[in-house]
Amino acid sequence: MNVYITFFSKRDNNKFLHIDNGFSFGREKKKEDVDLFFHQGREPAYIERHLKKYPSIDRIFCSLSYGSQLASIKPLLADNWVVGGPAAARLVTTGTELPCTVVSGSFEEYLGKDALDSDFDPYFSVLAKVLRIPHLFCNCSVGKGCYWSKCKFCDYPYYDSKCERTGKVNMRPNVGAIVEQLHPMEGCKTTSFHLSIPAMPPKALAEMLNAKRDKRVWLTIFLRADNSILQVFKKYNDSSICEGILFSIGCESLSQSALEKLGKGSTVDDTLELTRLILKRGGSVVLGIMDHYVFSDRQMVNEYLESLEKLKGIVKKYPKHRVKFTNNGVTHWPTREAISEFTDDFTAAKYDNQYERYLANIPEESETFKCNKDISLALVNSGINQFGATFVSLL
Ligand code: SF4
Repeated sequence: MNVYITFFSKRDNNKFLHIDNGFSFGREKKKEDVDLFFHQGREPAYIERHLKKYPSIDRIFCSLSYGSQLASIKPLLADNWVVGGPAAARLVTTGTELPCTVVSGSFEEYLGKDALDSDFDPYFSVLAKVLRIPHLFCNCSVGKGCYWSKCKFCDYPYYDSKCERTGKVNMRPNVGAIVEQLHPMEGCKTTSFHLSIPAMPPKALAEMLNAKRDKRVWLTIFLRADNSILQVFKKYNDSSICEGILFSIGCESLSQSALEKLGKGSTVDDTLELTRLILKRGGSVVLGIMDHYVFSDRQMVNEYLESLEKLKGIVKKYPKHRVKFTNNGVTHWPTREAISEFTDDFTAAKYDNQYERYLANIPEESETFKCNKDISLALVNSGINQFGATFVSLL
């Protein structure tokens, strides 16, 4: 028999159940196999006690979404463990030696299958039913990799199934077919799925929009505001085609000169146009903004203020709750080389308990800090909703 371990967390006073991604695709489930769910942060001894209930385990498969989850299983790892999930690529790229198999790509690749599967096993429905928590949020990974893969701040290996900066994307064959399999979970008031891929490619986006989906299910996807994505939306005139979908746009900055320094490869104008196209088609938008720019200057502030006015003009025509800013966090740079392009004054810090990132030191009395603060204030006072962490320059 095999055991499959998935982590979950209960949030906001037990109102939200977040289930991390598991090996839900391509798995041939045998009758004797067991799914075990553990709350994030469980002690290894607790997990070990549960595993001991099954004396004849062949393999233990465990999906890690965050490096920090490794602490819950690390002392138990042995030959018969197979560790995968989004955090596995980082284990490979950081050279973390573990006494088990680490799968950085897809589960199907590990099993030696030729093609990725589109059949989705909603095995977590058991947990949703038992816990009876009103709002369910679950990751449903439809692919790996980013077709752009050039943003200088991005931790590429995390997103690439081969742990390489290739720009290749490993998508499941038909995202539409996957979306059509997603239904509300029994006993839950709301069911949401994040189609976890760092940037949904245009073809997959069209498949998702064409799918006959159950609109009682909420979807969230990450998007890049590039022209190929805009062209997909322009093909649809249906004002409800995006209803129930939250499009999380990796905007990073509303200043064009900042986007160019970041290597983002998209424009602020396209970001604003994409926002308008989505709102007009009934969808919701989250604009992910980063904070603590090492290169902030007055030009950047002015560009921000100008773009913000244009954005306000677009969003005022739609219900307020359908547009939000979120602070993606401070700009951590993935390598010394990446940050050294802008400054020699930086600090290395452990991120997600596992690997080093680099953070610029920006003195509070500096002009750079003041510019960051002006940008953060403009965002906070824009009248557009904001969630996520407070901008660091306002703390
Ligand atoms: S588009 Fe997103 S995932 Fe792709 S390189 Fe840029 S930040 Fe990373």
